[in-house]
Amino acid sequence: MGINIARASFEDIGDEHVGTSLETPLREDAFEMEDTLKIELIEKHFREIMHIMGLDLTDDSLKGTPHRVAKMYVKEVFSGLDPKNKPIAKLFENKYKYNEMLVEKNITFFSHCEHHFVPIHGKAHVAYISNGNVIGLSKINRIVQYFSQRPQVQERLTMQIGNELKEALGTDDVAVIMDADHMCVSSRGVKDTTSSTLTSFYSGKFEKDEQTRIEFIKYISLER
Ligand SMILES: [Zn+2]
Repeated sequence: MGINIARASFEDIGDEHVGTSLETPLREDAFEMEDTLKIELIEKHFREIMHIMGLDLTDDSLKGTPHRVAKMYVKEVFSGLDPKNKPIAKLFENKYKYNEMLVEKNITFFSHCEHHFVPIHGKAHVAYISNGNVIGLSKINRIVQYFSQRPQVQERLTMQIGNELKEALGTDDVAVIMDADHMCVSSRGVKDTTSSTLTSFYSGKFEKDEQTRIEFIKYISLER
């Protein structure tokens, strides 16, 4: 009886996509194991999952799958769990004294829902107001990518990107809007293929000043 109740509440959390904290829940010893060993162990367990499902692992098309999945998890789609992969954002002095809002919109991102391990993909729109320093534009993409490459909930992802940009840029004046499709909503469950999920992060002037926020939203709504 107790077990059934606990199970029901886990499933509720998963389908409602409730996140628990700003930090990705990681164990203390998360990075004590080398990547090569992680790949080896995940491969073994994934082979077991496929075997349990009744798939014939001696088939030419399937036999490489456990290794491919393990390598993809560790080196690609979940590589953002490991701080050693965090992009280093070098600051440059803003010589031309551009102190207006800088907006980078339509940054493509791919992530995975931590409740179902299926893709979330969409666009991120980022803005900041320089305090005298700037970072390379591609670094903004890389920061978005880094935090996306984890099992995620969209709310946490948005906040992690916002907080990282504040720190990298040394300014509070940062905004992030993310607009994403969740495969766990479209390909299963309620099977809704038209809805998208929007989340936002406003800090500094973007939080305090409505005009600044409106200006950002106006820029990201502009047709090219
Ligand atoms: Zn999900």
